[in-house]
Amino acid sequence: MVVRETLFADVILPLGISGTLTYRVPAAWNDMVVTGQRVVVRLRDRKLFTGIVARLHNEAPTGYEAKYIEDLLDEHPVVLPVHLQFWEWMASYYCAGIGEVMTAALPPALKLTSETKVAIEEGADLLDPEFGDRERMLLEVLASKGAMSIGDLQKMMGHAGLQRTLNALVKKRVLYTAETLRERFKPKTADFVTLGSGANSQEKLQAAFEELEKRRAIKQSELLMVFLQFTGWDEGRRGEVERLRLQKAGKASADVVNGLAEKGIFNVTTREVGRLIPQQMPGRQGRTLSPAQQQSRAAIGEAWKQKDVVLLHGITSSGKTEIYASLIDDVLAEGKQVLFLLPEIALTAHLIERLRKYFGTRVGVYHSAFGDNERVEVWRHVLSGQPGEFDVIVGARSALFLPFSRLGLVIVDEEHDASYKQRDPAPRYQARDAAIVLARRFGARVLLGSATPSLESYCNAETGKYGMVKLQERFGGASLPEIVVTDIRAGIREKSMKAHFGDVLVSEMRAALERNEQIILFQNRRGYSPLWQCYDCGTVPQCIRCDVSLTYHKTGHVLTCHYCGYSADPPVACSTCGSTNLRMLGFGTEKIEEDIASLFPEVRVQRFDLDTTRSKSAHQRIISDFEDGRIDILVGTQMVTKGLDFDNVSVVGILNADKLMNFPEFRAMERSFQLMTQVAGRAGRRQRPGKVIIQTYTPGHWLFPLVKANDYDGMYRVEMAERKNHYYPPYARLMEFSFRHAMEPLAESAASAAAGVLRQVYGARIHGPVTPLVGRIRNQFIRTLLVKLERSSEIQAMKEDMVRLVRQSIKMADFSGVRMSVDVDPE
Ligand code: ADP
Ligand code: ZN
Ligand code: ZN
Repeated sequence: MVVRETLFADVILPLGISGTLTYRVPAAWNDMVVTGQRVVVRLRDRKLFTGIVARLHNEAPTGYEAKYIEDLLDEHPVVLPVHLQFWEWMASYYCAGIGEVMTAALPPALKLTSETKVAIEEGADLLDPEFGDRERMLLEVLASKGAMSIGDLQKMMGHAGLQRTLNALVKKRVLYTAETLRERFKPKTADFVTLGSGANSQEKLQAAFEELEKRRAIKQSELLMVFLQFTGWDEGRRGEVERLRLQKAGKASADVVNGLAEKGIFNVTTREVGRLIPQQMPGRQGRTLSPAQQQSRAAIGEAWKQKDVVLLHGITSSGKTEIYASLIDDVLAEGKQVLFLLPEIALTAHLIERLRKYFGTRVGVYHSAFGDNERVEVWRHVLSGQPGEFDVIVGARSALFLPFSRLGLVIVDEEHDASYKQRDPAPRYQARDAAIVLARRFGARVLLGSATPSLESYCNAETGKYGMVKLQERFGGASLPEIVVTDIRAGIREKSMKAHFGDVLVSEMRAALERNEQIILFQNRRGYSPLWQCYDCGTVPQCIRCDVSLTYHKTGHVLTCHYCGYSADPPVACSTCGSTNLRMLGFGTEKIEEDIASLFPEVRVQRFDLDTTRSKSAHQRIISDFEDGRIDILVGTQMVTKGLDFDNVSVVGILNADKLMNFPEFRAMERSFQLMTQVAGRAGRRQRPGKVIIQTYTPGHWLFPLVKANDYDGMYRVEMAERKNHYYPPYARLMEFSFRHAMEPLAESAASAAAGVLRQVYGARIHGPVTPLVGRIRNQFIRTLLVKLERSSEIQAMKEDMVRLVRQSIKMADFSGVRMSVDVDPE
């Protein structure tokens, strides 16, 4: 007999610590514990946590006595080894804790904590003789107390095996656990109607009709007809129709179906259906690629023979989505899974519908706007890995973490989009880059798509690290819009401005409205007016918690802080000099909306920004209202630049291009080019040539001729030279340390101390400390250090060494309470 040594498990815990903690596995569980499983463990402060087993081994930890694992949560792993390795990569590359990666990766509902509540399902049979002693005990406790947290149950009943008992009861649908009681995971069901034993042959059916006639059950007779229209008349054809659909089609109530069921004519069964799967058959629509699209598609296939990653540089409306769909076909035919990443707000119902048309119920959508249950449902489907089910996952950046097992293709659409980068909290990962790493682990191919690629990706393609395919014609021969740059200064001089509209924009808008065409206006600022300033002394009301001025919102008549949400009443008099001579400076989307109302009183305007899309459905409602022509003019922030595809938009206005270009950030030109090109791409997407009016104070700026000519390459060359000059990405790699404290001198000296320590080793690579653009947020003063690293094989070791040095330097007693965070590849 082989005597097994004591088994230890390294457990990932949802904490900001850098590694895992080691626990001892009780001998009885030796054969049950596997990596990727959730376990419950106790920390030194005796708090219970759910963690994931990262590694099993026989080496006792040095320096501390390993505690026992308290409980096992799953029979099977919820995370596969390949993903655990991916988490480890992410933690080390982005200098984050592996526990932080786990927290980002798991959908909230899988993160049981001791605060998780447990309760008895409605209608559960508590007297079932099948229950064991422990199960019965637990049910008695819960029946008397109502809902209880797992922590309290543990106190009451001890913890040995508690989770297993809970799991068993949850599986039997007697208990449910949830973060909150409202959002429990309950499978959605639907009723389906088939012909019952009283009507399942031609003769019986005939008899059934006669019987219904005799009883004058006209409604029932009619509904039976409707049913047969759905399923066909053939004898023995056992079609089924969803109950609600049948009732709707037959304009019948539930009673009519029930009546037919009582007579044995209908048979009604209840079945579990996915929340996310629409009740439609996976319809496939034939589609043909245009010759140019076919060429690109073939070129992508060729490029993949050499390189894992290919950049598709295809202008707006060239039909990139169609090419993606056709590539997805091939991958599905190989039995592999597809991950289709999109920027959060480009994930519209429209696009999902389009993909569902092609791939039916194989499409799963993963989105942070979804509730916990929906997310767990997608997670479980992907984990089960059934071919043909959810093997095309469309999602925002967090979809990266789904438990794929046969990933064959990753598509990153709009790959340049800044929202692929997670800013806060850690891990501050770039989903596009991480997706490439993930794909490599599966040997999967990657396609990055954009009309305006990031400089990094384009550079990688130019230098041959990625393959590159260009698609330079719009689908259906639509032409690119004409772009007109107009001078705001001239408008002001000639007094021809109407509010913030120059006369070119006004007359183009008027002409479009007369032709019943639609308009999109872009202003990258929400609210009414960014500044509410004293005319006499220049004072501008500031946030009390952040170093920013407050933005005036006319809706609600308040000043709000866009960083922390603080709001205040607009002042009647200046807080500094008491003057009542106050004025508004600058303008946001709210003001534009109001200006339009006075310029074009009859016109239907809708604002499309964070403020008008706070509810889950509002975003979609506005898009469909615009699509169906219930809105003439859409005024919005960046939201209007992404993923919208409307036929009838002929004019796009960019109200103040300087706002974008003057942004104090090294990517300002790249981002301005991208934004202007993308929003321009919304115009004239079909036969109609569109027109884009860009208003600016600096019409002579070098960027405009390139935007007008849709000359991405031109912008790329100029910008690359700049980046080289100032040593910024893609030439250098960046890393940023931030230091925060409620006391400014502490934030300052912690940052200086860290800078000093780093400089001793890394010299001129260290820049700062500096006070960022917004130097205080939520009462925390901020200082940052920028590190510029040359590309080299030592870069990872250097990053880790720097983090260690900085941590050490702020460990000193003087700096206790200073919070440090690291951002690798900040954007
Ligand atoms: P992009 O993502 O490149 O901006 P889309 O994929 O959204 O472009 O395509 C633009 C429009 O052209 C969409 O309305 C799409 O339905 C249509 N389209 C593109 N290619 C085809 C095709 N091969 N067959 C039919 N319609 C197409
Ligand atoms: Zn004043
Ligand atoms: Zn604030």
